[in-house]
Amino acid sequence: MDISISDYLRKKILSMNLYFYNMENDDIKQKILDEIPKTEKLIEEYKDMTKPVAPDVAIGRISRMDAINNRSVTEASLRQAKLKLQSLKRVLSMYGTPEFGRCIKCKTQIPAGRILLRPQSLHCVNCAK
Ligand SMILES: [Zn+2]
Repeated sequence: MDISISDYLRKKILSMNLYFYNMENDDIKQKILDEIPKTEKLIEEYKDMTKPVAPDVAIGRISRMDAINNRSVTEASLRQAKLKLQSLKRVLSMYGTPEFGRCIKCKTQIPAGRILLRPQSLHCVNCAK
């Protein structure tokens, strides 16, 4: 094992962490600001899709069952999207406070990678289980 290489890698990883840490807050805020209108739009779309199927619409029994099945799937997506929106707004409300980017349960710093993937994260990986 070449020590100089592992040393180089260690320094490289450290500087990457630092890079993540520095870009973190503004980047996350921007990501949340992008995500909120997208999620709101999605909620509107799901709401449209979950409107009750009018009984007088001339579709067969099977397609009616299909429509009902699709509706329950859409309703589940709608619930998820609403939760996501709530979390996004909560994360955004913590911007500029020491709570921002920390797990609301155990208060540890949530890794930037996780937040960039799921900006609505309120929990670290351990607490989210
Ligand atoms: Zn935690």
